[in-house]
Amino acid sequence: MLVVMQEGASEAQIQGVINRLVGMGFTVHRSTGVVHTVLGGVGPVDDFDPADFEAIEGVKECHRIVSPYKLVSKNWRPQGTVVKIGNVEIGGDHVVTMAGPCSVESRDQIEKVADIVAEGGAQVMRGGAFKPRSSPYSFQGMGEEGLKLMRAAADRRGLLVVSEVMDHTQIPMLMTYAHILQVGARNMQNYNLLRELGRLRHPILLKRGIAATIEELLLAAEYIMSGGNYDVILCERGIRTFETYTRNTMDVSAIPVVKKLSHLPIVGDPSHGTGRRDLVAPMARAAVAAGADGLLVEVHPDPDRAVSDGAQTLNPAQFNEMMRQVKAIAAAIDRTA
Ligand code: PEP
Ligand code: MN
Repeated sequence: MLVVMQEGASEAQIQGVINRLVGMGFTVHRSTGVVHTVLGGVGPVDDFDPADFEAIEGVKECHRIVSPYKLVSKNWRPQGTVVKIGNVEIGGDHVVTMAGPCSVESRDQIEKVADIVAEGGAQVMRGGAFKPRSSPYSFQGMGEEGLKLMRAAADRRGLLVVSEVMDHTQIPMLMTYAHILQVGARNMQNYNLLRELGRLRHPILLKRGIAATIEELLLAAEYIMSGGNYDVILCERGIRTFETYTRNTMDVSAIPVVKKLSHLPIVGDPSHGTGRRDLVAPMARAAVAAGADGLLVEVHPDPDRAVSDGAQTLNPAQFNEMMRQVKAIAAAIDRTA
């Protein structure tokens, strides 16, 4: 349930409502907006009458939340979530580009990539050190050594780092190198991992599973938020359909749908969304036009020699051209990129 406090409600009034909710068996999550404080009561408690709460001094309104997700719902934070990391804001007016190779391969490669993505205007460098490959015989990633190389290259250019966490045992180590922990499509419904990530106070990039509905994506985010970690960024990266021309079908409409249902920022990944280099820029433009708060794009100094996902990876010239186009699209909808 949601309790919206009146404008100017006192701290004592807010605490009074929190105590009452806790007494009823709810776990309470507090969202402090510019005007209203909103209290989200989460738990298996059904027998309450919202009118009883509306009678309490300082309470503006009380609602039963009918959607299966609560903290992820737009009602809990109508003002929207902006994930702030240093001076980078994801979910604000600026469309944030996260770019880099599918996998970290070597010092030379990641240093070159850092130059390319920084010069192109990206603020976050991506790169996998632990790779969820469909085949056990494919390259599995450089592990911690790759993270060290990526963080050093990123720090030199003032970039943030996003990298995938595949297993809860990797969390402490990954947190020391990556400003944002990525949950890959294959792990979107790994509920043990999501719960562990909920205990952190560290930003998470949650990618949509290949067969996940929008509601399942939002429920996966609810697992993380219910632990008190509210810095969740969603990612539309394409879903599996009967179409075979593209690797996945990038569901651009999921972006405005998520924006309507949730306060969480969402980024588009046109690389995994299409699997084809020639389609990355068009779908990046589409994602930004549809309201994406950022892009996750694969870039490599020599994509034809990339150890993973080369076919969907941009070369430096293609990346620069995509950035130029995306800036124009962002400007058309009163944003920057
Ligand atoms: C990746 O970002 O390289 C990746 C493996 O993505 P996904 O989990 O979306 O397949
Ligand atoms: Mn990849």
